[in-house]
Amino acid sequence: MSNTSNTLQVKPLAPYVRPISGTELMQANPYRPWSARITSIEQLTPTEKLFEFRFTDERICEAFHHEPGQFVELSVFGVGEAPISISSSPSKHGFFELCVRRAGAVTRALHDMQCGDLVGIRGPFGHGFPFEKMKGHDVICVAGGLGIAPLRSLINNIHDERSSFGKVTIIYGSRTPKEVMFREQFEMWQHRLDFDLYLTVDHPDDTWDGHVGVVTKPIAELDIDASNTFGAICGPPVMYRFVIDELRKKHISYDHIYVSFERNMKCGMGKCGHCQIGHQYVCSDGPVFNYWEAKNIQGSM
Ligand SMILES: Cc1cc2nc3c(=O)[nH]c(=O)nc-3n(C[C@H](O)[C@H](O)[C@H](O)COP(=O)(O)OP(=O)(O)OC[C@H]3O[C@@H](n4cnc5c(N)ncnc54)[C@H](O)[C@@H]3O)c2cc1C
Repeated sequence: MSNTSNTLQVKPLAPYVRPISGTELMQANPYRPWSARITSIEQLTPTEKLFEFRFTDERICEAFHHEPGQFVELSVFGVGEAPISISSSPSKHGFFELCVRRAGAVTRALHDMQCGDLVGIRGPFGHGFPFEKMKGHDVICVAGGLGIAPLRSLINNIHDERSSFGKVTIIYGSRTPKEVMFREQFEMWQHRLDFDLYLTVDHPDDTWDGHVGVVTKPIAELDIDASNTFGAICGPPVMYRFVIDELRKKHISYDHIYVSFERNMKCGMGKCGHCQIGHQYVCSDGPVFNYWEAKNIQGSM
């Protein structure tokens, strides 16, 4: 007679499945856009809006990190995809911001969207500004127009770790006062004694009490410790040569000057070749290059 009460009943264990991390998910298929919700929209100028997003999948939210100067591919479902620089600081977790100009199909569709609507995001892609290398040095950020979008990420990142940097100078040029973006943020930086700020416009109106003229004008007036200074530049292509000439007159070496390029691109991962200049892909080798590299890329400037 069997004694069932002495028999150990062992239930088979469920096979252990390790949860997939957000990083693994993103790496598994970098062509897959992840859904992100618009959490706030701010009209900055008649043509630019600042959008804040949060991924709907918490694992992606946690895994998403970027360097200042990197970009994402933003898709509006059923319309298309466009590369857009991340404008918020890497120290802001869970959310990220994109400053977007209404330019064509995708950006027009995005501008028509509301808070709560969903978009697709791939990335972040490319190489950004060398934040760690810049630590312990003075930094001059020169932005023209929409170029302030990626530089804002760098400036805010410096702001969050201000004691790790020397003198920080921000020069931002716009065509008219109406086109000046992030006014409140500039006012905040203006009140800090540890940022030197130059806002300049080409065509002032009665409301303007800042500087007038192109961004090279304030650089000429700066007292710069060349051996200890990094330059970070982003703006319309025409601006680069003049700004670099001015920084060179101050004896900042080419390998301490960083420029961010915009080129038509598709995949964002150095596969399709749309953004190739010379032997480099702007999407994966850049979009931020140091000028020493950039000047050797045929057709870059
Ligand atoms: C690395 C990178 C970062 C960018 N960051 C931002 C950003 O932060 N904010 C923002 O608003 N835009 C940014 N752009 C530009 C944006 O990707 C283009 O304006 C994009 O074409 C918009 O898509 P669309 O479908 O709305 O316009 P489209 O229908 O593609 O085109 C609108 C017009 O812009 C032209 N165009 C397309 N791409 C470019 C380009 N790269 N440079 C100049 N002209 C172009 C087209 O030929 C067309 O005339 C960035 C581009 C790159 C490559």
